Amino acid sequence: MRFDASERLYARARRLLPGGVSSPVRAISPFPFYTARAEGPYLWDADGNRFIDYCLAYGPMILGHRHPEVMRRVAEQMERGWLYGTPTEIEVEAAARISGLYPAMQMMRFVSTGSEATMAALRIARGCTGKDRIVKIEGGFHGAHDSVLIKAGSGATTHGVPDSRGVPADTAKNTLQVPYNDLEAMDDVLKEGGIAAVIMEPVLGNIGPILPDKGYLDGVRKITRERDVLLIFDEVITGFRLSLGGASQLYRIEPDLTTLGKIIGGGFPIGVVGGSSDLMEMVSPSGGVYQAGTFNGSPIPLAAGMATLDVLEAGELSDLNAAGDRLRSALSQVVEDLGLGYSVTGIASMFKVFFGPSPRNYQEALACDKDGYLRFFRRMLEAGIFLTPSQYETDFLSAAHGVDVIDITVEAFASCLKG
Ligand SMILES: *Cc1c(COP(=O)(O)O)cnc(C)c1O
Repeated sequence: MRFDASERLYARARRLLPGGVSSPVRAISPFPFYTARAEGPYLWDADGNRFIDYCLAYGPMILGHRHPEVMRRVAEQMERGWLYGTPTEIEVEAAARISGLYPAMQMMRFVSTGSEATMAALRIARGCTGKDRIVKIEGGFHGAHDSVLIKAGSGATTHGVPDSRGVPADTAKNTLQVPYNDLEAMDDVLKEGGIAAVIMEPVLGNIGPILPDKGYLDGVRKITRERDVLLIFDEVITGFRLSLGGASQLYRIEPDLTTLGKIIGGGFPIGVVGGSSDLMEMVSPSGGVYQAGTFNGSPIPLAAGMATLDVLEAGELSDLNAAGDRLRSALSQVVEDLGLGYSVTGIASMFKVFFGPSPRNYQEALACDKDGYLRFFRRMLEAGIFLTPSQYETDFLSAAHGVDVIDITVEAFASCLKG
């Protein structure tokens, strides 16, 4: 494979964009490939190389690229205009539909990104409880804003230290962290008091998929209720993926606030925050928690999202999840035959080969051979398969990945994992 055009673009990009990219995860070493177009399960780069895409824009593209129904509905909306700055019918329809799938979201606010959704959820929680402190899970990711850009520590409970320059220490100190799958640590920190909310990804998606132990999410729900702390499920990855009603539906948990994004914009920018009417009535203009945005409820993402939902609902989601099960079991067999102590994790359309035993939390995930993974990532890329470029990002399967594509992928895993 030749990457001349990408290498040239990267040389220019490095002078114009910090690190040569628009978001840090894209800075693949020694240089990223530059995508020129996409279709179904494939990306083509500026040099004409074709890759089977398991990154899928880090989650939104659950139907694959250029799904005809999404294109049709976006084109229809384009004909009527794409931004009005007024209320629209589609936001009412979308809210009713989402509320039907996520009964805990009696009311919601549409925003433009998942980061904005979690930022609003935390403000609502703080505004409603009058408390400042929040708890997050180590290794959990909720976007790139001050309250959640907090370093993961190594103790049972860690007190907030900024994970980025520019995050005020005064902000960081209000974010406490506990390990995933550890109810005792969670209860210990909730006992301290002064806590508005626990925010968590029900299935950790941003350090590779890590699943909840049996009873863990129920336990979190129970102790947050007992301690009068709001529970925020960040379903930006799991929403419309684990089931149409997300992790809340799959694990039968009723969070106080829910954040959605990625899939529900059909590949266009979106975020949603919602909860009970009592909590959401606190949001401006009905209440005193301020939230606003030029692009809130933008019709194109909603049209793309509703089209995506229609396709998923018509049977694609259950087919996709079954394909995910088959892929994971094929990969598990490959990994077992190899005998290197690697593991395959995931659920629904999320998967990852961990270069080490299957982790239960962030600290265990850190023990994996992440440099070995990066060398493997390169070999896969040369074999025409684009995985997420880190041991700690989930790989995704889309509805556009057919049996033939998956078979090629499993074979590539078998030969590239050997080294
Ligand atoms: C991607 C992601 C976000 C941030 O969403 P953006 O649209 O990138 O701002 C928040 N939470 C989770 C769990 C995510 O995976």
